[in-house]
Amino acid sequence: MKIAAINIEGNGTFAQDAPAIADAVKASGAEIVLLPGNSRVKRSAAAAAAKAGAEIDTNVVDLDLTGEKVTAKRWVYRQRIFTAFSRAASLEHPWVIVTDPSLFGELCAKAAAEAQPFTAAASAATRTVISGEENAVTGGESTIRPDAKLLFVAGAGWTKKQADGALHFDEAAATITGFLAKSGASLGSSKSLVDMPEAAAAFTFMSHMNQVGQTGATPRHPKGLSTCCHGEEPHVVGWRFVNERRAVNLDANCGWAQGKADVVYVADAFAVMKKVNELLG
Ligand SMILES: Cc1cc2nc3c(=O)[nH]c(=O)nc-3n(C[C@H](O)[C@H](O)[C@H](O)COP(=O)(O)OP(=O)(O)OC[C@H]3O[C@@H](n4cnc5c(N)ncnc54)[C@H](O)[C@@H]3O)c2cc1C
Repeated sequence: MKIAAINIEGNGTFAQDAPAIADAVKASGAEIVLLPGNSRVKRSAAAAAAKAGAEIDTNVVDLDLTGEKVTAKRWVYRQRIFTAFSRAASLEHPWVIVTDPSLFGELCAKAAAEAQPFTAAASAATRTVISGEENAVTGGESTIRPDAKLLFVAGAGWTKKQADGALHFDEAAATITGFLAKSGASLGSSKSLVDMPEAAAAFTFMSHMNQVGQTGATPRHPKGLSTCCHGEEPHVVGWRFVNERRAVNLDANCGWAQGKADVVYVADAFAVMKKVNELLG
């Protein structure tokens, strides 16, 4: 396993650096390429890796080298979890590891990789050539509607066993999409719901892009309606630009009831939203 290091410093444009770094990665003849994570590298390295057919990981703070196996270490989830991971790297699909800039020298030494200087090829094209257009929305209608008056937020409760002791994924999905179609509301979600693999099959209209909160989006809508969502602080911080807030929750002591919503309906959201959909016609 060959590990190369390229010392990229100074300034450069994305248009020139992305192809030049891709060329340098390929020309290194190495399975793993280390780069220092300064602003120039951070701007262009991801695109360069894609052009070079490489995988890339940024913010790596340490490496473990055991025989042929290289393990990278980095913090995730806002510095709460320290992870160690590895990737299969080959000459056709190299692994680009972007380190913290201050650790670049130390990690190069650890990997016994002498950092090579980088020279950006000035010949890179600076004009984009459009080869065609493709609708960004694939697999159905977009549920993220920034101009909507209402943000409708679905929480993990939609996937929990209900009073009859059964799961109601399909009914939940139909109720939510039915309401979105009738009301034109934008769809938000809690982290718990978008992280749930078992929900993914039924909730195809929802992705991590819908997540509202500390590690999600902070949408701006005049009104918000939260359903089957507990109202935990890391979620509710994403509501800070939503003015009028209402929530439907079975639990009278949920987070929304503790000063986070203007109105809390202590009720079954399945029944409430079914009735709302009927009233909307
Ligand atoms: C560092 C950090 C960052 C985080 N960032 C985010 C973030 O960005 N966004 C985010 O959402 N979360 C985030 N979280 C997670 C957050 O703390 C909560 O765990 C999460 O929001 C809970 O999701 P939930 O309310 O959908 O699910 P749960 O906590 O499981 O709540 C489900 C709710 O549904 C109710 N319910 C069940 N059935 C019904 C029914 N029929 N009718 C009405 N109500 C019903 C239940 O009473 C319950 O209150 C973060 C956590 C950490 C530690």
